[in-house]
Amino acid sequence: MNRSIRTEIFERFQAANPHPTTELVFNSPFELLIAVLLSAQATDVGVNKATAKLFPVANTPQAMLDLGLEGVKEYTKTIGLYQTKSRHIIETCRILLERHGGEVPQTRAELEALPGVGRKTANVVLNTAFGQPAMAVDTHIFRVANRTRIAPGKNVREVEDKLMRLIPKPFLQDAHHWLILHGRYTCKALKPQCGRCLIADLCEYGAKNDFA
Ligand code: SF4
Repeated sequence: MNRSIRTEIFERFQAANPHPTTELVFNSPFELLIAVLLSAQATDVGVNKATAKLFPVANTPQAMLDLGLEGVKEYTKTIGLYQTKSRHIIETCRILLERHGGEVPQTRAELEALPGVGRKTANVVLNTAFGQPAMAVDTHIFRVANRTRIAPGKNVREVEDKLMRLIPKPFLQDAHHWLILHGRYTCKALKPQCGRCLIADLCEYGAKNDFA
């Protein structure tokens, strides 16, 4: 895929959805961090249901510590892996208070030092809370990047690096959301909706005519 086709793909995504954002509900970097910590192997809808009750009670590291591990679990128990995730939340809040003045740090190294925060979570927070052009490659982005050939790669890190290098700069900040939404609702894993895909004529997926 050449640069002009890649550019046209993102121009179309932008025209269709000029201000994309995450479907996780949050009102501060801290709330986003907690929501993303809860979101591994869970749906955004499920996380939003839990945080809609949790955040009014605790939306700062201190309030979360005051709630305590058992208290946090009461709000997160509908989410998969909630025991581990709740433990990570409490440990993360302790570190935020001890080392970062209760604020969410804005560097990758500091974010990845928090319990339960890997490269993907750090990328989401850097991109969505702090406006840095980071690319959190999840299963949707990995699939879309490979099928379309926007940035094919054998593993998520390869795809992440290629996307960061190949996506034209003006689109880099929002590309993460466009690709996730495209994978979630159009370029679905089992049955891509090629017949109603706004980039079908630009996509290089060999099997797309089978799904048109
Ligand atoms: S044409 Fe099909 S395979 Fe290509 S991006 Fe669209 S939905 Fe995905």
